[in-house]
Amino acid sequence: MSFNVTSHPDLYSSTDVASLNWFEQQWVAWYVAIGNPVIATGLMSFLLHEIVYFGRAIPWIIIDAIPYFRKWKLQANKVPSAKEQWECTKMVLFSHFTIELPTIWLFHPLAESIGMSTYQVPFPSWKIMAPQIAFFFFFEDFFHFIAHQLLHTGPLYKHIHKIHHKYSAPFGLAAEYAHPAEVMILGTGTILGPLMYCYFTRDFHIVTMYVWITLRLFQAIDAHSGYDFPWSLQHILPFWSGAEHHDFHHMAFTNNFSTSFRWWDRICGTDDKYLEYRARVKAAKAAMKNATKEQQDAMERKLMAEVEAEGLRAEAEAEGSAPRPKTVKVQ
Ligand SMILES: [Zn+2]
Ligand SMILES: [Zn+2]
Repeated sequence: MSFNVTSHPDLYSSTDVASLNWFEQQWVAWYVAIGNPVIATGLMSFLLHEIVYFGRAIPWIIIDAIPYFRKWKLQANKVPSAKEQWECTKMVLFSHFTIELPTIWLFHPLAESIGMSTYQVPFPSWKIMAPQIAFFFFFEDFFHFIAHQLLHTGPLYKHIHKIHHKYSAPFGLAAEYAHPAEVMILGTGTILGPLMYCYFTRDFHIVTMYVWITLRLFQAIDAHSGYDFPWSLQHILPFWSGAEHHDFHHMAFTNNFSTSFRWWDRICGTDDKYLEYRARVKAAKAAMKNATKEQQDAMERKLMAEVEAEGLRAEAEAEGSAPRPKTVKVQ
């Protein structure tokens, strides 16, 4: 991208562009090309969200279409159809344009009012960014752990969170399939960390927030992917939640309320049914060591169906109605 810094002396008059790295130069070029920092930040934030969200979800759509990967699918008998993925995409896009776009747009004035750097260069070093992002992960996980449990109570479930639980076997695109109020409530956990940090330190760059949002989107989409590979992060970092943890929440309609980490559910005992289920599967597999793969799969499907049936009863109780069929069909 070519640009002329001297045409915007107010933004970059004292900046030595030649001393910047490639990313910083592109950043300057973007703000110069757009000309208005409010529009430039708003547009970049929205595009970043769309590109990362769909960019991360598309590989999961492809994986769902390839039977080879089925052996790592957590609920292997429930693969979303193309129609279901498209319905979900339409709802997510509608929500992005009607709820997230105006919110993202309003973010710039709010960010500037508390002293957040936006168009400024150079960026902070990774040594400054890393601990900030670690704090945002910790804060969001705890916020979500509390807010998500509240969303499972009475009217909040029935009128808001029920939409996100449409899929008992989630898939990547379904990460943001939720009621607008839920997007606002749970999204607060994602942006409140950076806002608080910025408010108290008055030293924070929006690029750090972009790195954080990108990582958070990867976390959310992967947690909904429905796949547990031997190389998935939770096998390297045992306290990482990952798909294996959140998939159970959708299947069982209980337990595992956090996003990134397992510790709050473990400390508060809200993973008891999940641990019991894992133990049951492990014991059944050990007892069926000599059985065929088909017999073992059938046993696992039976245990899953029991957990899901119990979850449907709990869900019906939460909203005071009869159990309803799930939309992802058994194939
Ligand atoms: Zn839930
Ligand atoms: Zn979910």
